[in-house]
Amino acid sequence: MSNPSASPGIHHVTCVAGDPQQNMDFWVEVLGLRLVKRSINQDDPGTYHFFFADAAGTPGTSMTFFPWSDLPDGKVGSGQVATTAFRVPAGSLDRWEARFDSYETAYQPRTERFGQAVLPFEDPDGLPLELVEANIDTADPTVPWTAFVSEEMAIRGFHSVTLWLADPDPTGELLGAMGFEERGTERSGSDPRTRYSAPGPVGAHVDLLPRIEASRQGHGTVHHVAFQTPTDSDQETMRHRVRQRGLQPTPQIDRHWFRSVYFREHGGVLFELATNGPGYDSDEPAESLGERLVLPGPFGERRAEVESNLPEVSIPTAEADGRVADGD
Ligand code: ZN
Repeated sequence: MSNPSASPGIHHVTCVAGDPQQNMDFWVEVLGLRLVKRSINQDDPGTYHFFFADAAGTPGTSMTFFPWSDLPDGKVGSGQVATTAFRVPAGSLDRWEARFDSYETAYQPRTERFGQAVLPFEDPDGLPLELVEANIDTADPTVPWTAFVSEEMAIRGFHSVTLWLADPDPTGELLGAMGFEERGTERSGSDPRTRYSAPGPVGAHVDLLPRIEASRQGHGTVHHVAFQTPTDSDQETMRHRVRQRGLQPTPQIDRHWFRSVYFREHGGVLFELATNGPGYDSDEPAESLGERLVLPGPFGERRAEVESNLPEVSIPTAEADGRVADGD
């Protein structure tokens, strides 16, 4: 039973990438996520839409990308998700640093935040990312994907997103209305970071940082963050609540693997509410997720044309790769 008064946490995060092959190689091979859906941007069918997630495509685990090669590099700034953080098992950051060394992926010094170890790094497009050590118990809803990394280090869905906002207060109030509770404020450098937490355990945290800095959408930036509203009725309740706060949510839009409502929150960040179903395995078998290009709705009848407008990409497979599948 879901509680319509609270979102359980983040559902997915969607970003802008550059070269699709570079994006695929990093997220599947280096970070070890599973490609659970290979589709197209439904508003721009000449562009891919990649979904990287845990083994089961569990809500709260999918990082999705539009590789828009033509766009310039973006700039992270106010009114954006500035950083996206993922959960990894406690004690695994040594392995991750070794893995990043072997792939020549740069990372920054570890830091500690709200009692957890954090490893900041970037993807090849410069997208700011973090791995956060979390206690992941046997009842965890996520399922590790171990094609490229061992279970001891596998990413287990989102930990948090950090929003940069000119004025964090209205966004904090909105998060409260969405069921996130204010957890406290920590100083990182000179910035007070205020954490809001949902029931979780996956994607449970949203951190707000006051920042006034120009932003530009482009490679290496987040396009939007989606929050879980497990059922249609949860979503309608939340949509109503968002409207009551003077925001302008869209009607429900069918995204085939979930149903979505979008709105811009007070600080300018694009938020989405997404249902848990039907799920990534609703239109292809769970064991072969992502292997073929999935064309939802009317695009399916134009497969040859759509495919001819997309660049070729190959999906890394553990068998084809000679490297050790672990960081150490
Ligand atoms: Zn979305």
